[in-house]
Amino acid sequence: MTLRTVDQQLIESADAALASVVLDRLDLGTTATFEVRDPATERVIATPPDHSIEDALVALGRADAAGKTWARTTARHRSDVLHRAYDLLIEQKDRLARVITREMGKPLAEAYGEVQYAADYVRWYAEEALRPAGNFRENPVGGSTILTTRAPIGTTLLITPWNFPMAMATRKIAPAIAVGCGAVVKPAALTPLTTLVVAEIFVEAGVPADLVQVVTTKNSAGFSSALMADGRVRKVSFTGSTGIGSVLLGQAAEHVIKSSMELGGNAPLLVFDDADLERAVEGAVVAKLRNGGQSCVAANRILVQDGIADAFVEGFTEKMREAVLGNGLAEGVTLGPVIDDRAVRGFERLVADAVEHGADLRLGGSAPEGDGHFFEATVLDRVPETAEIANTEIFGPVASIARFGTEEEAIERANGTPFGLASYVFSENIDRAFDVADRLDAGMVGINQGIVSNVAAPFGGVKASGLGREGSGEGLEEYQEIRFYNLARRAR
Ligand code: NAD
Repeated sequence: MTLRTVDQQLIESADAALASVVLDRLDLGTTATFEVRDPATERVIATPPDHSIEDALVALGRADAAGKTWARTTARHRSDVLHRAYDLLIEQKDRLARVITREMGKPLAEAYGEVQYAADYVRWYAEEALRPAGNFRENPVGGSTILTTRAPIGTTLLITPWNFPMAMATRKIAPAIAVGCGAVVKPAALTPLTTLVVAEIFVEAGVPADLVQVVTTKNSAGFSSALMADGRVRKVSFTGSTGIGSVLLGQAAEHVIKSSMELGGNAPLLVFDDADLERAVEGAVVAKLRNGGQSCVAANRILVQDGIADAFVEGFTEKMREAVLGNGLAEGVTLGPVIDDRAVRGFERLVADAVEHGADLRLGGSAPEGDGHFFEATVLDRVPETAEIANTEIFGPVASIARFGTEEEAIERANGTPFGLASYVFSENIDRAFDVADRLDAGMVGINQGIVSNVAAPFGGVKASGLGREGSGEGLEEYQEIRFYNLARRAR
C-alpha cells in the first residue's frame, strides 16, 4: 500500500507552527530534554525540557500562590478572560491544528475539529463561571437559616493523555480557572506541545502567568508521586488508563485529595434487528474510526442481532474500506497513524489471535511497509468471546463484530466487563432503545448515533471507567467544595 504524499507548503506551515512553540514555559534553566516524534514519519519534531521533580515542586508553589490571588477575582473577570481565550484559540486554529496533527497524528480535518471542541470547553466555562450554584434552606425546627455556597477547591493537578492533547487539557484547565483555582498540568510525554500552546494563549488572554504551570517530563510516575505527597494539591483530575488511575487514587488517599478519574473504556455498540441500517452503519463507523479508534469512547465491541447482521457487516465493511490511510497532513487522508509502534504490534497480535480463534477477517489486518506507525482499517466478524480482542480495549482502527440472538443476551454481554464508560444502542423502537440504555452499565449512551461527546454533557464513566464528570455544570463542581453558613435567626 502506498501512502499519500504531503504537499510541501503544508509541511512548511506545520514546521512553522512547531517552531513557534515555546518549549520551556517554566524557565528554570532545565537542561535535560526528551524527544517528541511525529508518529507519521517517526522523525523528532521537538525536544522539550525533561523537568525534574524539583522543577515540578517549584511549579506547584507558583500555581498555589497565584491560585490564592486568582480565587479572589470576580466571576465576571474570570469569565471575560476565558471568553478572550476562546477567541484567541479560534484565531490560532491553523497553528493549533498543525501542532496537534504533527505530534499526535490525526488527520488535519479532525485536528481542526478538536480545536473547536477544545475551545468550546473554554467558552462553556466562561459562561458557567457566572452561574455559581448556591442554596438557601430553613432549619426545619427554626432558629437558623442555612446558606450553601461553593468555594474553589484550591490547587489542582491535571494529568492528560495523548489522544486528544488539546481537548483533554481545556476540559480540565477551563473549569479550574473558571472557579478560581491554580493548576499544574502534565501533558503526556508523547504529545506535550499542544498544551504548551494552549497555556501561552491563556496567558495572552489575561490568565496570570503563574496560574497554569505546564510541566513536561518523561518521569510521570516520579512527578505524580511527589506532587500528590506534597500536601498543597487539593484536587487531581486524570484522564488515562485505569491502571494509572488506580495508582493515583491510592496516592490521593494520604492527603484525602478530591479525585476525578476519566479512565479506560470498552464500549459495546448494540445494533438490533429493528435498527435503521444506514444510521447504524454510519454511527458504527464514526464510533469506531474517529481519532483512528484511539478514543476511550470508541466502539470496542460491535454486537449485532442475527436478523440484521449480514446486511450490517456488508455495509459496515464497505464504509470502513473508504478510509484513506496516510500522514494526517496529506490531502484526503481520513485515517492517520496510530501513536506508536507498540500499538501497531498490539493490533497485529489481536488480529492474529482473533483469526486463530475462528473470527472472519473481512478487511485490512496489517501494517503497511515503511516509516510511520500505520495500521489499516480492519474488520473482524464473528469474533468469539474467547478471543483476546473481545475482552480488551483495542484503541485503534480495528473493528471487532460479534452476533447475538436476544435482547437479554445482548445486555448481558455488553455489561460483562469491568468497564462502563460509553455504550451505543441502535434501534428504531424507542421503548427498546431506552429500556436497553437504562440497563447498560455506562456513564454515557449514544442512542442511534455514534458520538456522545459534547461540552454540555457530563462526560464520564461508571465501574472501572472512573469517578466524576467533565464538561457541563457537573464538570465545574468537580473543582469546587460546598460550604454552608449557619445563620442564627430569632425564634418566632
Ligand atoms: P496512560 O494512563 O498511559 O497515560 C495518561 C497520562 O498519565 C499521561 O500523561 C502519562 O504520561 C501519565 N502517566 C503515565 N504513567 C503514570 C504514572 N505512573 N503516574 C502518573 N501519571 C502517569 O494512558 P494513555 O495511553 O495516554 O491514554 C490511553 C488511555 O486513556 C486509554 O485507556 C483510554 O481509554 C483512556 N482515556 C480515557 C478518557 C476518558 O475520558 N475516560 C479519555 C481519553 C483516554
